[in-house]
Formats: sequence, C-alpha cells, structure tokens
Amino acid sequence: MECIQQFTHSLFPIPFYGKNFKTSTNTPLQTIPIILLHPTRKPNCRPKNSYLSPTFNVNLKPQRNYSATSTARAGWFLGMGEKKQNLPDIVKAGDPVLYEPAREVPLEEIGSERIQKIVDDMVNLMRKAPGVGLAAPQIGVPLKIIVLEDTKEYISYAPKEVTKAQERRPFDLLVILNPKLKKKGNKTALYFEGCLSVDGFRAVVERYLEVEVTGFDRDGRPIKIDASGWQARILQHECDHLDGSLYVDKMVPRTFRTVENLELPLSAGSPKLGDR
Ligand SMILES: [Zn+2]
Repeated sequence: MECIQQFTHSLFPIPFYGKNFKTSTNTPLQTIPIILLHPTRKPNCRPKNSYLSPTFNVNLKPQRNYSATSTARAGWFLGMGEKKQNLPDIVKAGDPVLYEPAREVPLEEIGSERIQKIVDDMVNLMRKAPGVGLAAPQIGVPLKIIVLEDTKEYISYAPKEVTKAQERRPFDLLVILNPKLKKKGNKTALYFEGCLSVDGFRAVVERYLEVEVTGFDRDGRPIKIDASGWQARILQHECDHLDGSLYVDKMVPRTFRTVENLELPLSAGSPKLGDR
C-alpha cells in the first residue's frame, strides 16, 4: 500500500459501494496533500526478475539466480561501495497478475531459497518505494505473501491529529504467508488510500476497523495478528491483492483523484471521512 505522505491523514477497506454510504457535508477532517517521496518510475510491464516459470505452475523455479554472492560480486567489479540492489519493478494496474487470485505457498516450500528471496525482495522494495505494505502479485508473483510495516518516521510526516483519528501507530515488519483475514465486528472507517500499483492516485475506501489475520511467518511458524485502525486497513488492502482485487474495485468512485488534487473538497454526494 502506498503510503508515505508528508501532510495528510488520507490513505486507505471493504467492498462497500455508494449505496452503503451515508452522505454528509459534515466532514471533520480536511484532506491535506500527500507528498510522495518515491521517484517517478519508468513505465513497465512485467518485472524483469520473474521468480516463476513461464507457466506460473507448480515448478516455480527462478529464471535467474539472484544470489547475494553474485550481487556483491557485481558491486565489487563496479567498484561501488554499496551493494547494488537488483530488485524487481512494481507491477502496475492493467497487468493481469493483479487481477487473478494468488496461490497458497506450499508449507514445505516456505524455507526454500526461492520463497525467502521473494520475501526479501518484497521487503526491500516496500522500503525503497516507500510504502507501508506490498503483496507478492505486485512484483509479478501470484503467491499469497504480504509484507507490511509502518514506522514512527513515516507517521511523523502526517499531522498528529490526523494519525490519531486514523489510529495509525507504528508496528514492526510483518511478513505473512497464506494470510486468512477475518473481520472482528462491523465498525468501519472511511479514509483515502493509495496503492503502489496505481501510482499517483487516491480514493476513499471503507475498511473494517478491526480484523484478525492468521497465517505463517517467513520461517513457517503459525502466526495470528489482531489488528485495528490503520494496520487493519493495510492488512485488508494487501489481502485484497491476493484475491485479485485493487482498491479501485472498492473505492467510493466519486472520491477518486490525483494526488495533486487530494486537498480539494470532496464532491457533493461523497461520504463523510472518519469512523462510522
Ligand atoms: Zn496496493
């Protein structure tokens, strides 16, 4: 999930469409512009570093070997002081991989070099973007893997009253394989959210305020996360990716806008931001 914003409360829920929203002109929080910190990327299609065989089938062997050794060696030959990160590109809206359900990672494969490499790349890419969440289909890998992280620094870019309303709190890196998400209660909240695969745009999405996610960590140990507020939003956004769904499938269509226009008032008929 795209998320770095310097001055905003806006960011990211559930397939609730227009008829489910009550309209109100009493918007407690004004939208404030997001300033993205990531550089403009070149348009691209599939990531060059595909982890999968062309058929996306059972035999999931990497097409290239991206060992740490070869990367370090390349850096050495180039005389560079730092390791060059050979990361895949983020897949953008329109690529079919973003619209197909991802497959479960076989438990016996979790410890494999290939899966560990995918996880490492996802974490590095999320941090480089920067973003607060990423799902494997966003690097062209149709497997059920998500990573998420929110930091004090990222949160400090937004006004305190905003992050407080959003219940946005820092949390350590989470890597979840084969996540299963369950809502806890029916309370929801509406806020703007964005996506690294839909660069440059934002829209209001309604999300559950409390969810429970079970799955496995990168070592194959079962995990359970009880999340609320912004973390719950990120989890819903990333799990949607694994179902082949983007936030634009769930947004309030009238709120869709460019990042530059984020501060402009919501149009008539738009729902009120905040908790329901
Ligand atoms: Zn996304």
